[in-house]
Amino acid sequence: KEFRNKVKPNWCPGCGDFSVLAAMQRAFANQGLEPEDVVLVSGIGCSGRISGYLNSYGFHGIHGRALPIAQGLKLANRDLTVVAAGGDGDGFAIGMSHTIHAIRRNVDLTYIVMDNQVYGLTKGQTSPRSEMGFKTKSTPKGSIESSIAPLEMALTAGAGFVAQGFSSDLKQLTRLIEAGLTHKGFSLINVFSPCVTYNKINTYDWFKENLVNLDKEEGYNPSNRMMAMQKLMESDGLVTGLIYQNKERKSYEELIPGFDETPLAKQDLRLDRSAFEELVAEFA
Ligand code: SF4
Ligand code: MG
Repeated sequence: KEFRNKVKPNWCPGCGDFSVLAAMQRAFANQGLEPEDVVLVSGIGCSGRISGYLNSYGFHGIHGRALPIAQGLKLANRDLTVVAAGGDGDGFAIGMSHTIHAIRRNVDLTYIVMDNQVYGLTKGQTSPRSEMGFKTKSTPKGSIESSIAPLEMALTAGAGFVAQGFSSDLKQLTRLIEAGLTHKGFSLINVFSPCVTYNKINTYDWFKENLVNLDKEEGYNPSNRMMAMQKLMESDGLVTGLIYQNKERKSYEELIPGFDETPLAKQDLRLDRSAFEELVAEFA
């Protein structure tokens, strides 16, 4: 169960994405999965490269489009463990409508967002997750747009699983990914994954000072949606841990009328000659 391959990541030394890759590799192995059971679909960005660094099936898709590919894969062959991954620009800008509709649709897959609050691959522009006042080449006088709140958005869209990790806490991140993998339905895991090259504000030290770990907070109940929303709003989203989980919500697959236990990819869908001729006659 070796999920490491021989490809050397070309991320900058210290990039938070290294931890996300390591956490994924551990989580898959801990869950007793085999590389051929897993498909990792990624979008475009520094984080999108991750699908090439995992010993599993991989699909490096196009910008903002990891989720449509991942959902199609899962519906065609639900025997596979399908994970989608990308950055904040990928999932919360160009891919935002896919993110919202994937949440509401609730196909059983895990979506991991490496949120560094900047566009790294294109050399440091303001992203939808950048804070107000954030200075880059695209906003030299500081951003005058407020940052998007992806987890509140996810709760509002009806998410059944919302978690947030931080690249510095590999143990917690691995646990959250495992919880996402075992959750039946769509799981969103946002990860604060610092970009050491282009984001000099939201650094490892900044997160260490500002994040609150909900897993250690007494009385916090992740099955309470209102509590989750309140916590996110009062902390400005600066929390880690399992934020919300609804174990009752049925996945998309479970709600398909006439649900067939055999995955589509394994069904014999060939028509015999007479059925084919009948079909042609119908349209003649
Ligand atoms: Fe990571 Fe930023 Fe370097 Fe991209 S530019 S590899 S996000 S540190
Ligand atoms: Mg980014």
